Amino acid sequence: MKVAVYSAKKFERDCLTQSAGSRHDLVFLENRLSPGETILAEGCEAVCIFVNDDGSKNVVDRLARAGIKYLALRSAGFNHVDLKATEKAGLRVCRVPEYSPYAVAEHTVALMLALNRKLIRAHTRIMDLNFSLDGLVGFDMHGKTAGIIGFGKIGRIVAQIMHGFGCKILGYDISRDERWASSYNVTYTDIDDLCSQSDIISLHVPLTDRTKYLIHTGRIEKMKKGVMLINTSRGALVNTRDVIDGLKSGQIGYLGLDVYEEEKGLFFEDHSHDILQDDVIARLLTFQNVLITSHQAFLTDTALQNIADTTMHNLDCFEKNLKCENELFADS
Ligand code: NAD
Repeated sequence: MKVAVYSAKKFERDCLTQSAGSRHDLVFLENRLSPGETILAEGCEAVCIFVNDDGSKNVVDRLARAGIKYLALRSAGFNHVDLKATEKAGLRVCRVPEYSPYAVAEHTVALMLALNRKLIRAHTRIMDLNFSLDGLVGFDMHGKTAGIIGFGKIGRIVAQIMHGFGCKILGYDISRDERWASSYNVTYTDIDDLCSQSDIISLHVPLTDRTKYLIHTGRIEKMKKGVMLINTSRGALVNTRDVIDGLKSGQIGYLGLDVYEEEKGLFFEDHSHDILQDDVIARLLTFQNVLITSHQAFLTDTALQNIADTTMHNLDCFEKNLKCENELFADS
């Protein structure tokens, strides 16, 4: 079938083309999907989108009017798609629920290590022939308490790695798996207890109405002074302005972000010739103890191949009118 692939980046095109083979005709579009860009999908049967594309009702209705039958997400998260609207418009939607939880978990730990051991600062110094060590003191991860919020596929792998470091692990999730937890010495607790006891806090829950701004001033005040906070899940899990206040007061000692609540239009793009308009990220960039990556936690060759293969499998199912295990429904 003919598929309009929005937000198609160079790094993923080869994998997608290879996986599509001769079964699907992919039309790669640089543009992000938005109301004004739906016209580019005309003549296609399916639209394929990524995390910062707009899947709101307005866009969905326009796609349906343009004859689009299928919406294939190249992501696990689906908070950017109005599933009630797709169901009403008769569009079948699928996602890639798992492509490499290892990729995201490993990047999460990379942020922790780079922040703790001040690797970026050390590298910048050395490039300037400054070989001094002042200001580069880190801490042993061994023996520290890591609080993992969300014990799904990614959170569990982060916990396993932290367990390997010799950390004590606290977990918070709405569902519990005591057998798994006992294999990695994980203690389940409530979120406030986790916040008050952890030296490192890492977020691995999806963005929903319940998890929006899970981290706000009230919770930050309960955290240990100098805590490390890592978010590789979705930007709006944390209230960024509250986090900036926490950094200014020293309550937050380290911040690692792979996601940002206003990342749409900013992340994934080269803005090096633009005047930065976002004052919140501008403030974040002034802190030495903040490390930001541009939603790249998923970005490994394994994950890209898996995303491509699962997306094409999903489209195959839709085209043949088969049941698709990765289909999303209004109550998903
Ligand atoms: P998952 O569905 O396997 O796990 C999510 C866990 O969160 C589940 O155990 C669930 O019970 C728990 N949960 C849901 N709502 C909760 C709540 N209100 N309170 C406490 N726990 C709750 O998902 P995953 O594959 O581990 O992915 C986690 C998130 O990582 C995704 O939702 C996505 O936003 C993000 N992600 C980011 C990247 C990246 O490149 N940065 C890539 C993939 C996924």
